Formats: sequence, structure tokens, C-alpha cells
Amino acid sequence: MTSVEVKVKRVLHFINGNYEQSSDEQTFEVKNPATQEVIAVVSEATEEDVQKVSQVARDAFDHGPWRTMSLADRCDKIRRMAEIILERREEIARLEALDVGKPYSHAFAGEIPRAAHNLKFFADFMEQQGGEAYPMEDAYLNYTRYEPVGVAGLITPWNAPFMLTTWKLGPCLAAGNTAVIKPAEMTPLSVSLLGEIAKQAGIPDGVVNIIHGQGRVVGTAITENENVDIISFTGSTATGKAIMRNGADTLKKFAFELGGKAANIIFEDADLEKAIPVSINAAFLNSGQVCLAGSRILVQRSILDSFIEKFKLAAEALVVGDPQDPATKMGPLVSEEHYNKVRSYLDVAKEEGATLITGGGTPKLAAHLKDGYYIEPTVYYHEDHKARICQEEIFGPFVTIIPFDTEEEALTIANDTDYGLNGVVWTENLKRAHRIAHGVRAGTIWVNCWFVRDLRVPFGGFKKSGIGREGGHHSLEFFSEAKNICIALE
Ligand code: NAD
Repeated sequence: MTSVEVKVKRVLHFINGNYEQSSDEQTFEVKNPATQEVIAVVSEATEEDVQKVSQVARDAFDHGPWRTMSLADRCDKIRRMAEIILERREEIARLEALDVGKPYSHAFAGEIPRAAHNLKFFADFMEQQGGEAYPMEDAYLNYTRYEPVGVAGLITPWNAPFMLTTWKLGPCLAAGNTAVIKPAEMTPLSVSLLGEIAKQAGIPDGVVNIIHGQGRVVGTAITENENVDIISFTGSTATGKAIMRNGADTLKKFAFELGGKAANIIFEDADLEKAIPVSINAAFLNSGQVCLAGSRILVQRSILDSFIEKFKLAAEALVVGDPQDPATKMGPLVSEEHYNKVRSYLDVAKEEGATLITGGGTPKLAAHLKDGYYIEPTVYYHEDHKARICQEEIFGPFVTIIPFDTEEEALTIANDTDYGLNGVVWTENLKRAHRIAHGVRAGTIWVNCWFVRDLRVPFGGFKKSGIGREGGHHSLEFFSEAKNICIALE
């Protein structure tokens, strides 16, 4: 028995305003990661299905009313989607907890309202956009129009499926494009609802389409499809490289939000009353399956012992359990494959001579969770920041504390990684905060905080953490083509 009665759901593709199965009727199963019970049977698309959905999105773009309707009408419909999401907030949060294993309380209080905000924000933002005008003496006037690009492939990961899909869908629709959404195969449930939500909000058929299946087949077919103009992708760096290769022949435009291995730098003058709980959250939110996770905790040696003692106690106090229970702070990992991957790093840590501070085992759980993919909040200490556990994205409840002595050394360690998505610094010294914020080569630096998001700001990665930026006008520019119009005035 789980704490929530589950009826196995049937998840279909959403094409041209209708839910339908695959042309060959193939399906695959999805399991609840907390129990291993099958919770859904999902249609598995063929290449032929991808061709069909891409053609539908193309026709809806070329001949449908979406890109030519008034901006106010378009944005009203997107805002209506946001309202419906809020009306169905509890249901969507429950699905997210069931499918991903993330705590319901986090989905309900954080990700689902944020998903609604993603849509409303970009509808409002789009309506406020002006244009550029460049008069040339009195003879000519140049002005710029931002037009939709066409059909967008939106390929999203499993760690925050609904929130991350709406983060792309909002600007995609506001700019006037049509969409082919490809959710992660492990977690298709919540995203599948976006079809009926779009329809109920009055978005014309063919504008929002959703296709399910394995990344290597369905994701590749979308990436290679002639009808798809651009790809907005969030996922691993390895998949980003594959998408870039596969999209080369059709010369696609890409926005990539990829992996991370953030340094969370704690100086001796840090306010530990704040730094410890926030660093715990940065380490273990969503079982550490967060691209922005502060998975390398760099601690100044003078406070090392007291930091380790406090951090260990706080990690051990985390309530690990049933994602549907409001008291749960940490659930399971998303799947058996991912669980095995994260567990393999426990062996790596041992081989590399890291010191285990806490965790590494299976937490004490209620009987109905005995088959769930749970790992205790795990903290290691390692002097060598070049070790694999300090370099590779583990994407689990697994962090490593690394000591440093000087500011210069902290920066060297922070930057000695392939990734550059974000960084965190804790200090009461204003000048040092700025020096570190400027010195860390990453797209977002949080000073004395973590994961504070304003949707107007640029979001994205340096180095192998991404290409391009999302957020505010950055998203709208990606989903638009800028056109110059030059008029002779004489
Ligand atoms: P993934 O790359 O395995 O899969 C992401 C999506 O890509 C899925 O929908 C998958 O089916 C699809 N896919 C897989 N192979 C494909 C291919 N060859 N062509 C096209 N599509 C393909 O990533 P994941 O394991 O689902 O997600 C975890 C990763 O996502 C981590 O690396 C994490 O850091 C990253 N992530 C980044 C951000 C960010 O904003 N930078 C946010 C969340 C997650």
C-alpha cells in the first residue's frame, strides 16, 4: 500500500488538439520511484509519429491563427493556462510527487506555482516589449520587428518536468511559435496535462503538441526534423552534444541548459546560522537532483571542524520518506538506473580515499517504501578537488566538503571544473563577495543565498553548462527572429 491510492494511468501523445496513441500502438511503463509500482503506461512514439506531430506544428504555424492573432488575445490565452494550472495545483503537485519522487510539499508550494508564473510572466513581458528604430537623417527610417521563428522542439528533463517545460513553453508561445514538447520518458505524467490545459485555455489546435518516448529515438527524430526550426533543451551535457550534432544538417538554432557542479564557498566570516540550512537545501533539495545543486562545498580551513559538525547534524536531521507525506523533506531518486549510478559514486569515493562524514546507506523507511530508490543524505570530505567525486555531476544526495585556505585558492578550486552554471559565496565582507562573484566563471552567482529566481534575469551556463541564456528578453530573443525594415522617407 502506498499512502496514495494509484490507478495506473494511460498517457497518450497530444497531437493537433487530441490525445492519441502511437501509430504502432507501442507503450512503455513508468514506475513510482518510492515503491517501484507501475503508475503509468505511456505511448511510445515512432519516427513516423514524430514526422506527423512536426507537420501538425508546422501547419499550425504556417496556416493557423496563432502567430497572426492580436498579441493581447495570444497573451490572454497563455495567462488563462496559468490560471488553470493554479486551479489544478494540488493534482499536478501530487502527480509530480508520484512520478519524480519529489516531496509533494515542495511541488505544491514551489514548482507548480512557479510553472503558472512562467506562463503569466512571459505573456505579460511580451506585451511590454517595444522595438528599435534608427532614423538615417531624414532620408530613411529603420525599425526592427521581432517575429516568431516557427516550430520549436522543447526537450525537457525529469527532475522538474512541469516547471521546466513551462519555462520554455511560456516564451515560445508568447513569441508566436508552435511547439512540439518531448518530456523525459521517466516522468511524463504532469507534462501530459499541458495538452488539455492549452485546449481549455483556448489555444488553437496544433499549437501545443506533446510526444512521448525514448530520447535516442524521439528526441533525435525531433532534432533531425526539417519542420522543426529551433530546439530549446534542458538536460545533460552529453545529450546536448548529441543534439548539436544531430541538428547540424538542418542548421537548427539551439538553447541549451545543461549540467552543473557548483561550488558553494563558505568563508570564515560567513553567518553559519544562515549558511548551514541554505547549504543543506542546496545539497539535498529534490534528493540533490538539481542542476544548481551546491554539490562542492568549499570551506575555509579555520572553520572546517565546526562547519562539518553542524552540517553533519543538519544532514542527519532531514526527514527522508514518502514523497506524498507533507513532513517529508527528501524522497527517493528518480529511477533504478539513476539510483545505481549515484550508488556507484559511493565506491568511487572509497577508492579515491574520501572520508565519509555521514550517510552512504539506506535510510530507515516505512514498510511500503522498502523497494524505493532511497539513499541517505551523504556527505564526504576530500582534500583533493581533482577527485572524480569533486568533478563529475553525480546528481544525487551526495556532496563533498573541500577545504581551502585563501581566497585565491577558493577561486582556483571553484573554477577547476568543466561546468559553469552557478556558484554560491558566503561572507560578510562586501568587497570579497564582489571579488568572488566576479572571479567565479559561472552564469549565476548567489551571495549569502541560493536559488533566488527573478524571471527577468539571464539564466544559463558558462563552459559545458550551456549555450545561450533563458529569462526575460533573452528567452524572447531566442524564440524570435529579428527583422530590419528600412523605409525611404523621401
Ligand atoms: P538527459 O539529457 O538524459 O535527458 C533530457 C531529455 O533529453 C529527455 O527528454 C530525454 O529523453 C532527451 N534525450 C535523451 N537523449 C536524446 C537525444 N539523443 N536527442 C534528443 N533528446 C534526447 O537528462 P536528464 O537525465 O533527463 O536530466 C538531468 C540533467 O539535466 C542533469 O545533467 C542536469 O544538470 C540537467 N539539468 C539542467 C538544468 C539547467 O537549467 N541547466 C535544469 C535541470 C536539469
